[in-house]
Amino acid sequence: ERLVGSGADEVERAAEAALRPKTLDEFVGQRVVRDQLSLVLQASLARDTAPDHVLLSGPPGLGKTTLAMIIAAELGTSLRVTSGPAIQHAGDLAAVLSSLEEGEVLFIDEIHRLARPAEELLYVAMEDFRVDVVVGKGAGASAIPLALPPFTVVGATTRSGLLPAPLRDRFGFTGHLDFYGAGELEKVILRSSRLLGVDIRHEAAHEIAGRSRGTPRIANRLLRRVRDWAQVRGDGVLDLRAARAALEVYEVDPIGLDRLDRAVLDALCRRFGGGPVGLTTMAMTVGEEPETVETVAEPYLVREGLVARTPRGRVATAEAWHHLGLEPPPGTWA
Ligand code: ATP
Repeated sequence: ERLVGSGADEVERAAEAALRPKTLDEFVGQRVVRDQLSLVLQASLARDTAPDHVLLSGPPGLGKTTLAMIIAAELGTSLRVTSGPAIQHAGDLAAVLSSLEEGEVLFIDEIHRLARPAEELLYVAMEDFRVDVVVGKGAGASAIPLALPPFTVVGATTRSGLLPAPLRDRFGFTGHLDFYGAGELEKVILRSSRLLGVDIRHEAAHEIAGRSRGTPRIANRLLRRVRDWAQVRGDGVLDLRAARAALEVYEVDPIGLDRLDRAVLDALCRRFGGGPVGLTTMAMTVGEEPETVETVAEPYLVREGLVARTPRGRVATAEAWHHLGLEPPPGTWA
């Protein structure tokens, strides 16, 4: 298991589901998005019509799926879930769309990974509440329009810039989720501890929050690891000693960087003398997909001031060199 990565297996998903906030009020942080969404939802309830389509963008683990569930719950309707990569053909999407009931919310995760034909079908469905069902093949094929009941698409993407403009334009509201502050993550951890029924000290919550990479999913994951430690090697109480010891066992670095983050920094400084390095070269060096490096690792490294993006590629800042315990060469970005 990649402790601080973005992937989630079955056990993880079950554990996450138990800790998901169920209402906007319970949702910690992201005040701006919460406020905007709350207006959209209240207006829709007041008018008794399906709200505009909602696009949520931001790095993994910040709460996009959670917000989609909250939107459906607050509207008192059900949520249907699919994802860009799960839809292989336009026909798959047509099947999902034509089975929607009035007012339902359709969540499309990783919407930027929809194939072209599915994307085009989606524009029409979002705009005109219609799918064209293609009957027959080749020259004899014809499209039969099928009217859909009003529904709301909630799309999630790790970067809204990856979405083609025509699709982006179909969303009446876009919410940008940003990394959480340490204080907000502390709240997430204290809330989760309550739900899990664990006894946690404030300093421990603070320590875990500081190493959670600005990400609630990671905060919850680390909390569970600290709980393991406290149960097996400690006295069951999650105090500072338990937090520090557990985080050391799991090699979470003092600022919360994970294996991929460190691999990127390491390659940048040790292999490429601080850069600039292009995305593709960097991805090959650390053995990951360029999209993963760009959407999972980089946003946090950039936000923490360890990596800067320049027109010629990624460069390591002086802080990155210091973080690896190395002396920055002359001319390094401050
Ligand atoms: P991905 O795109 O990788 O699926 P995501 O952005 O959809 O990630 P979620 O699955 O919604 O992220 O959130 C991950 C976990 O973090 C959830 O299980 C939830 O418990 C917790 N979480 C996320 N946001 C919040 C929040 N604002 N308050 C409390 N808990 C949160």
